[in-house]
Amino acid sequence: MNSAPSATAAPPSDVAGLISALGRGLPDGRLVVDPDVLAAISHDDAEWAPVGRAVAGVRARSEAEVRHVVRTCAEFGAPVVPRGAGTGLSGGANATDGCVVLDLSRMNQVLDIDPDNMTCVVQPGVVNNDLKAAVAERGLWYPPDPASAPWSTIGGNVATNAGGLCCLKYGVTRDYVLGLRVVAGAVPAAAGYGDPAPGAGVGYGDVVRLGRRTNKGVAGLDLTGLLVGAEGTLGVVTEVTLRLRPALAGTPRTVVGAFGGLVAAGEAVSLITRRGLSPSVLELLDRACLTAVEEWKHLGLEADAAALLLARVDTPGDSGAAEADALAAAMTEAGALWAAQSSDDAEAEALFDARRLAYPALERLGPVLTEDVCVPRAVVPVMLARIEEIAARRGVTIATIAHAGDGNLHPLLITPPGDDAARLAAQAAFTEFLDAAIELGGTVSGEHGIGLLKRDGMRRELDPGALAMQEAVRRALDPLGIFNPGKG
Ligand SMILES: Cc1cc2nc3c(=O)[nH]c(=O)nc-3n(C[C@H](O)[C@H](O)[C@H](O)COP(=O)(O)OP(=O)(O)OC[C@H]3O[C@@H](n4cnc5c(N)ncnc54)[C@H](O)[C@@H]3O)c2cc1C
Repeated sequence: MNSAPSATAAPPSDVAGLISALGRGLPDGRLVVDPDVLAAISHDDAEWAPVGRAVAGVRARSEAEVRHVVRTCAEFGAPVVPRGAGTGLSGGANATDGCVVLDLSRMNQVLDIDPDNMTCVVQPGVVNNDLKAAVAERGLWYPPDPASAPWSTIGGNVATNAGGLCCLKYGVTRDYVLGLRVVAGAVPAAAGYGDPAPGAGVGYGDVVRLGRRTNKGVAGLDLTGLLVGAEGTLGVVTEVTLRLRPALAGTPRTVVGAFGGLVAAGEAVSLITRRGLSPSVLELLDRACLTAVEEWKHLGLEADAAALLLARVDTPGDSGAAEADALAAAMTEAGALWAAQSSDDAEAEALFDARRLAYPALERLGPVLTEDVCVPRAVVPVMLARIEEIAARRGVTIATIAHAGDGNLHPLLITPPGDDAARLAAQAAFTEFLDAAIELGGTVSGEHGIGLLKRDGMRRELDPGALAMQEAVRRALDPLGIFNPGKG
């Protein structure tokens, strides 16, 4: 079985020629060669993921410019590293040596909102919250809500198949992507599989339209689904057609449970799942997160419990009230110190703000290495216990947030700035977390993607046959290996 890594482009030999050819096909202001600006767009938010040296950046404003960049990079054999907002937590948007960083954040137009069919068409650089606001004006809702929604782009969300808080009930990015336009690699005209009229071949820089606008559709293989979560390794997304939902009516109910420990909170998550309760959100945050946010933002939070579970119920009327009661009861039965429906909307909102702000609040304390394992929901308490044991044995400081209802846990490993021994201990704990998740039947990444940080973990997790198929797809769609090589 051949599971050799993909062909990846070496740095181009004619850098001056590449830069000059890029510049010839682009309007003024697009090409970036200033070393400081280039450095600023050469990495994402992942701590300690290696960053290579880009030879140029391009701030594209149109699909035609993206096509020019891809065609030129193919000609000169230069890697192309697509980039949205750079909020990724796996190094997916980090520069590789000799690459051109292709910044899509200025392709940020909402092209169409179709309320009759509940769809929209957007450029990849539209920021998630901006899209939410635009469709809300038409009575519609785009549910996927990564905690980075104020900054991260739809293109980045698509490329990482981003999850979020309400994805527990409403699904992840993939569930909303109907179609894509992609600037692709080279694919010869297909022949030999019994199709008398094979499609025309595709060359580097050509645009391929994938998917559909309809609610259902099964014509052809699901190439749209293949591109979602591909982390920019199969082409550059230049347009996205998304499914929308009607805006939610009414104010959701918030249920809060306080626990004496992480494991008890995990037990409540398992019980809620077992009982078939369906909150729209079920998040966990521990005392370290609450304290960090309070010291930064002064929201009036009291960090008196070791861990909180925050649940939201958006079912209206009496059924919603009954669901909220059932959630509080399950939390109490699982050992909560107290569990109650919040009667104070401002306080409930402050708790969700704390959940969203936990990562930047902790980053103020020192470098933060973010974990993203996801385990079957019945073993959430076991995994939380393993995380605590590993961190204690390695002497690593952690704070934990989690999309707990999905079994997606984010222990954040915090190290004092410049402390190499602490960094090494954190990296060792990180690896052990991955192994524990795999052992419990989970996955090394629930939503942040493989990027550079999880490549070994992914190889330990996936079936060797699946790895070989994955590499075969990459070779077929990007024979030069120029699309974000070495990632995913
Ligand atoms: C505070 C904070 C909270 C977060 N919370 C969540 C969360 O709740 N859920 C979650 O899933 N993630 C979360 N993240 C991680 C991150 O925000 C997501 O992975 C997000 O989808 C990245 O979007 P971006 O625009 O920043 O993409 P980038 O980081 O710029 O890129 C991410 C990947 O997508 C590729 N890419 C970007 N644009 C394109 C394109 N147009 N075509 C092809 N490939 C492309 C890049 O090459 C890279 O591999 C969080 C991050 C932070 C900092």
